[in-house]
Amino acid sequence: MKEIEKERQMIRETAIKTAQRIVQPRAAEIDGTGEFPWDLVEAFGKQGLLSLLLPEEYGGMNGDITSLCLVVEEIAKISGSSSLLLLTQAIGTMPISLGGNSSQKERYFTQISEKNSLTAFALNEPEAGSDATFIKTGAKRQNKDYLLQGRKCFITHGSVAHLYSVFALTDPDKGAEGISAFVVANGTPGLRFGQKEEQIGMRGIVTTDVIFEDCRIPQENRLGEEGQGWKIAANTLNLSRPAMGAQAVGIAQGALDYAIRYANERIQFKKPIASFQAIQFMIADMATQTEAARALVYQAAAHVDARFEETEKLSAMSKLYASDVAMRVTTDAVQILGGYGYIKDYPLERMMRDAKVTQILEGPNQIQRFVVAHHLFKE
Ligand SMILES: Cc1cc2nc3c(=O)[nH]c(=O)nc-3n(C[C@H](O)[C@H](O)[C@H](O)COP(=O)(O)OP(=O)(O)OC[C@H]3O[C@@H](n4cnc5c(N)ncnc54)[C@H](O)[C@@H]3O)c2cc1C
Repeated sequence: MKEIEKERQMIRETAIKTAQRIVQPRAAEIDGTGEFPWDLVEAFGKQGLLSLLLPEEYGGMNGDITSLCLVVEEIAKISGSSSLLLLTQAIGTMPISLGGNSSQKERYFTQISEKNSLTAFALNEPEAGSDATFIKTGAKRQNKDYLLQGRKCFITHGSVAHLYSVFALTDPDKGAEGISAFVVANGTPGLRFGQKEEQIGMRGIVTTDVIFEDCRIPQENRLGEEGQGWKIAANTLNLSRPAMGAQAVGIAQGALDYAIRYANERIQFKKPIASFQAIQFMIADMATQTEAARALVYQAAAHVDARFEETEKLSAMSKLYASDVAMRVTTDAVQILGGYGYIKDYPLERMMRDAKVTQILEGPNQIQRFVVAHHLFKE
């Protein structure tokens, strides 16, 4: 047990150093230009962070969900979009971990760890958002191949990934049970991408449509058996939601730290505004909520890592609560800066914009509440 703790601590320290030395100087610029930060990809790759969850035998860091949460939280304190880059990388590899056989793991994981290949998780479609089982993208069997046809939308790492975990119908009559999972490599004929979305937040992240037009892939690219795709997708989201929560905690903590520093320095009525009880109470509430969110996130991560049978409720709760806290805390942090919070010279408006999408990604919070309620009433 102590060994795991030591390894997690080392991974966390790597993330702290990377956040301060490499991400901090670039955070505002990345948000301003909206350009995908290939320099950060290279830096994260060098630190092994792009292969965090992959087994050591394939060149990975053998990290668990708790380590992923620690890394994502530290990076998110500085830049939401840079933490989303790492989070997306982890989510893109999870379907291979969950459904891949040993030769697929050898092939893809080795490629990721040796070449720092980026991955993406392609489930969402124009008519299948919250109800992700309603996808239309088809994978039609043709001898030893599949022909993919359809359109995914809002895919993070859309046009920049090297490998896509894709969910498509092999048996349209069976609904969710007719969904299968595949890996599609960038460059496969018939795979193309839409325009980069102009986002209000997480602006360093590329989000595009991923389009399949008679895109032929061999059956060796299928993960698991036909019909197991939905289970793989749902289990992936169950694993990744605590990390999405950790990202929200990081954004909230970054905003809180900044607001405290500012409140100590800003003088009004001949005193630092930190001396006013109204500000102190706001900060106390922000800190309490952030700490509560962190506790829930790491409890969910611990349950997932321990492979407890029932983790879906806690996993949904952690993402739901932490993202609502991030939105509240960043909004209050903007308030503490007054007019300065509302201008781009200060990082808090960026943090508030970045926080917003944590309430939407991986299933909006209304759907997380639905998941939690479903478990409570079942119990
Ligand atoms: C920046 C960004 C990056 C993304 N990255 C990825 C990615 O990498 N891979 C991927 O697969 N997807 C990705 N997504 C998609 C994301 O997961 C979806 O946007 C999300 O699941 C919601 O789907 P939707 O946008 O279609 O909203 P809708 O499903 O249309 O929902 C609209 C609203 O209705 C509410 N609603 C819907 N159904 C119910 C209900 N039954 N009860 C109560 N309220 C309901 C929702 O909560 C929401 O508030 C990304 C989205 C964004 C914005």
